[in-house]
Amino acid sequence: MRIVNQLDEAYQLFRAERIDRKKCGLVPTMGALHEGHLRLVERARAECDFLAVSIFVNAMQFNDKGDHERYPRTVQADLDLLAAKGVDMVILPTDQEMHPEPIQFQVVPSGLSEVLEGASRPGHFAGVATVVMKLFHVLSEGLAYFGEKDFQQLAIIKRMVVEFHLPISVIGVAIVREADGLAMSSRNMLLSKEERAAAPALHDSIEVLRRGYASGERRVESLVQQAKTELAKEPLFKVDYLCVVNPATLDLLEFAEDNSRILVAANIGLVRLIDNSVVGAIDAQK
Ligand code: AMP
Repeated sequence: MRIVNQLDEAYQLFRAERIDRKKCGLVPTMGALHEGHLRLVERARAECDFLAVSIFVNAMQFNDKGDHERYPRTVQADLDLLAAKGVDMVILPTDQEMHPEPIQFQVVPSGLSEVLEGASRPGHFAGVATVVMKLFHVLSEGLAYFGEKDFQQLAIIKRMVVEFHLPISVIGVAIVREADGLAMSSRNMLLSKEERAAAPALHDSIEVLRRGYASGERRVESLVQQAKTELAKEPLFKVDYLCVVNPATLDLLEFAEDNSRILVAANIGLVRLIDNSVVGAIDAQK
C-alpha cells in the first residue's frame, strides 16, 4: 500500500493506472475509521482495479473550531485497517498541501446546501465541496464512494458532478449501524458512557416514524410529532431538525410517500449526531 502525501503524486499514480486501462476508485474520509468506512472500502475494492482512500480532517468544513480540535485522529490504526482491506494507495495530505495559503477559492454550493445541515452549520458544505472537488481533480476519472449516513452531502456531491461535468460516478453506500441501531460515526468515540447509552434513541425515533408510516399515517406533521415524542424520552438529546424530505431535492414534505427520506440531527452533550432512513420498506432496512 502506497502512502502518498503529495496530491500531484497521487494524480500521477491514478493517471498511470488509467493509461493501463485500470478502473480507479476513491473513498474520501476524515479518518478515525470504523466499520461504516470499511463497508465503503470493501464495496470499492470489489468494483475497482486501483483503489485509493484519502484521510484528511478538513478544517474548512468545520464551522465550530472546538469540533475540529476534538475530532478523533487515529492515523496509524487507520493505515493498518486499510492495508488489511487491500487498498492500493492512501492519500494523506497536510493542510498546506490540500489548501495552500492564502486560500482564495472555494466551491460554494447553493440550493441543496442551504437547508438542514447547511442552515445549522454555515460554510460546512462549501468546505466539503471544495475538498471533494480537489480530490476529484486528483482522481480525474473513475468511481467515488460516499455513505448515505451523510445523506445531504451525498446529494450535493452528486449534483456537483452533474453541474461541473466531472467524469466521476458517485456511488452511495447504505448506513452501517451498531447492534443497538446507532449509526456508526467517528464522533461516537467522543460520547461519554452515559451519552453512548442514550444515543440509540436517535435511531429509535426514526423507527417510530417508519412504523407510523407503515401503519398508514401519511401526514408528516403527525409522523414527526410521534418521532419527536419518542426522542424526548431521552432528555440528553437536543433536537436540531427532524423532518421528512424528497430524497432528490431535500424539499420538506407535507405528506410522506415510499422513498421519502427521514433526516434527523440532534446534539448530545458537545457531540452532534445525524441519522436518516427511507420511509417505507421496513423489512428491507432490517
Ligand atoms: P467521514 O470520515 O465521517 O467524513 O466519512 C467518510 C465517508 O464514510 C462519508 O462518505 C460518510 O458518509 C461515510 N460513512 C461514515 N459513517 C458511515 C456509516 N455508519 N455508514 C456508511 N457510511 C458511512
